[in-house]
Amino acid sequence: MSSRRKRRVVLLGSTGSIGLSTLRVAENLPDDIEIVGLTACSSVTKLAEQAIATGVKNVAIYDESKAKELRGLLPPGVKIHIGAEGLDEISQLTEADIVLIAIVGTAGLQPALAAIDAGKDLAIASKEILVMAGEIITARATQKGVRILPVDSEHNAIFQCLEGHRGPDSEISRLILTASGGPFRETPTEELWNVTTEMALKHPTWDMGPKITIDSATLFNKGLEMIEARWLFGIGMDRIEAVIHPQSIVHSMVEFTDGSVLAQLSRTDMGFPIQYALTYPSRLKGTLKPLDFTELSKLEFSTPRLADFPALSLARTAGLTGGTLPAVLNAANEVAVASFRAGKIRFPEIWATVASVMESHETVTNPTLGQILSADRGSRVAAKQFTHACGE
Ligand code: NDP
Ligand code: MG
Repeated sequence: MSSRRKRRVVLLGSTGSIGLSTLRVAENLPDDIEIVGLTACSSVTKLAEQAIATGVKNVAIYDESKAKELRGLLPPGVKIHIGAEGLDEISQLTEADIVLIAIVGTAGLQPALAAIDAGKDLAIASKEILVMAGEIITARATQKGVRILPVDSEHNAIFQCLEGHRGPDSEISRLILTASGGPFRETPTEELWNVTTEMALKHPTWDMGPKITIDSATLFNKGLEMIEARWLFGIGMDRIEAVIHPQSIVHSMVEFTDGSVLAQLSRTDMGFPIQYALTYPSRLKGTLKPLDFTELSKLEFSTPRLADFPALSLARTAGLTGGTLPAVLNAANEVAVASFRAGKIRFPEIWATVASVMESHETVTNPTLGQILSADRGSRVAAKQFTHACGE
């Protein structure tokens, strides 16, 4: 008889790219994964369809003005949790074992803390919340004895590579995060000024939501991931590096002090890390296809163009400095990406916005959650001022 227990999952951000991949994984493993809660920001039609298909009894909608419309689309008996409070409530559902956070940006932070307080395990895709408040989230999770399982493919890969490691952390020389390099990996520096939103939204290897796709083009995604790794694995920034790997087959690596490197490989499908996070520590036969080595002609690696893509250096500075600075980097980047998508600033001005806001920030060390939230708000105001000035 199997000793496996069905995981009952609340899925925050179910209408997004990670949300849809999670529902696909759950559908393929009905004996092992049960979705018990779904949430969206404002996509009520999609959310209602998902609620009907999965039969959940609880949904949450962040945009309060959409709640009435959602009520009309749902069968009776489905409870609607509304607004920021609603996200906290659904994250604490009695019947849930684990909360998967796939909300883009920082709106998943309070629900993550609510889930931890209720003793739920977390599966985190939302890297922004770990960048902003990684120390607080991981400390509270340890205190409450709940697990944090990484969904981001690089971190899931490192998590897998570290699983067999029984020695002290000092035996880990480096965490090596792979980056596809994005669509502009080989674009000459001066041409980066001509990059349009449309060009930046075409990722060469992954199909993802728009914000992370732009982040992959600037390399801020990898910068955010370096800080994310710092908190998930408790390894100093000086031992976290990024390497360009255009094929996105090796999802990340761990180098140990004896010189051995462990890597995790799979096709570019977020189903792999999502499934592993939700079924950990079991490896289950789903419908994900393994690699076909007869079709893999080459795996390439190179050094990132640090001077042309300043995101990695900015993230390293933020990670090394710590305190409120990572939250500042993250908030300024969110505003800059939104301004770029709205056609208000040009592509290299995303980096300039973040650099300027970071420079003018006075870092608070060992910040409280309140100080982090205040740094986040202040940086958004500063970033908006900077982007307005760029557009003039
Ligand atoms: P999407 O933009 O595709 O989806 C975002 C989801 O978040 C949607 O369900 C959206 O609802 C919801 N949402 C947005 N704002 C709010 C809010 N204020 N309150 C509540 N819900 C909100 O994003 P992705 O799925 O691409 O990314 C989600 C997270 O996962 C990001 O942090 C990203 O960095 C991370 N990630 C994504 C990967 C990918 O392959 N896509 C890979 C690794 C990490 P609605 O539909 O109503 O707007
Ligand atoms: Mg990633």
